[in-house]
Amino acid sequence: MLGGGQLGLMLMQQAACYNLNVHILDPDPNAPAKNLCTKFTCGDFKDYETVLEFGKNKDILTIEIEHVNTDALKKLKEQGKKIYPDPEILETIQDKGLQKMFLQKNNIPTPDFFLIEKKTDIEKYKNFFPFVQKLRKGGYDGKGVFKLNHIHQIESAFDAPSLLERKVEIKHEISVIVARNSRGETKTFPSVMCEFHPEANLVEFLYSPSGIPKKTEKKASEVAIQIVEKMNFFGLMAVEFFINKDGEVLVNELAPRVHNSGHHTIEGNITSQFDQFWRSILDLPLGDTSTIRPAVMINLLGEPGHSGKTKYIGLENVLQFKGVYVHLYNKIETRPMRKMGHITITGETIEQAIEKAKMIKKLIKVICD
Ligand code: ADP
Repeated sequence: MLGGGQLGLMLMQQAACYNLNVHILDPDPNAPAKNLCTKFTCGDFKDYETVLEFGKNKDILTIEIEHVNTDALKKLKEQGKKIYPDPEILETIQDKGLQKMFLQKNNIPTPDFFLIEKKTDIEKYKNFFPFVQKLRKGGYDGKGVFKLNHIHQIESAFDAPSLLERKVEIKHEISVIVARNSRGETKTFPSVMCEFHPEANLVEFLYSPSGIPKKTEKKASEVAIQIVEKMNFFGLMAVEFFINKDGEVLVNELAPRVHNSGHHTIEGNITSQFDQFWRSILDLPLGDTSTIRPAVMINLLGEPGHSGKTKYIGLENVLQFKGVYVHLYNKIETRPMRKMGHITITGETIEQAIEKAKMIKKLIKVICD
């Protein structure tokens, strides 16, 4: 597995249930998943030679982060290795321009866009403002996204290959996780509603069930399945959607892996996204994705102004609540807004879970020692 962050850590917890021997490659000598995998190599998954060497003696290669060296993965594929997701698909998804072109070509609903090479190209589209500028490569968690509401903001825009996406009047942001195995079997998880932190562009609260109308739920699920089928994708993918003011679903972006918007499935659904991931790439039957109970997920983010050795405050208070599950990510250093853990709060009803989650959020903090 390329990458050993928190997604890797939770994948390892599930890998133990299937007797899997997983060897992880990650540049961080203290990567969160390091102590849970069978073998750990400290190295750069963006480097061609490192990935090629790492893949030499493996049966199956996979990822928990999409920003990896795909040339090395393509070479390993030529050598007969099984690679999930397919490196060509990874290349399409790594580049937001190619990703959007794929969606457009396949008539998948997504906001209109233009591709540009450099900042001065934005002038050409001044009649189409407002836009959201997105770097084609390397962006994550809102880094690489710039909101361009007026022409006079061009000065502060990115000067790099990017896409200019029409600004959507967003009513809600939802996410649907879909899995497909090599028998061609597909399954989606019920959608979740994502509420973002106003400054950090990270999910602050996630609600399951999302509460969107049945018709919209059906449409989002159909679109997610259409994407993995058209791509001939095997594995697990998160599809992020906007719901606009007319109630239409538009694909925002794709993540070809387990995702932050599926963490609640560990306690909230019959099969977790981590279980479903292993089933999909090991060609096992996909699990039932039904919701067991309503859940809210909150990300534990590093407190602003705190950089250094991690300290969690308020854990004891949080654990006094019923139906609350804490996941800490084993990160030695905290930084402002860094994802340091998450908490899933379950309830008899979603309203009850929300009420508990709001209290819990105030009780816990991640600071430096
Ligand atoms: P990242 O890949 O870094 O998470 P996203 O493409 O998801 O970036 O964009 C981050 C946030 O910016 C979205 O969650 C959404 O709130 C806002 N955003 C992105 N695209 C648009 C758009 N076309 N119109 C309006 N808001 C947008």
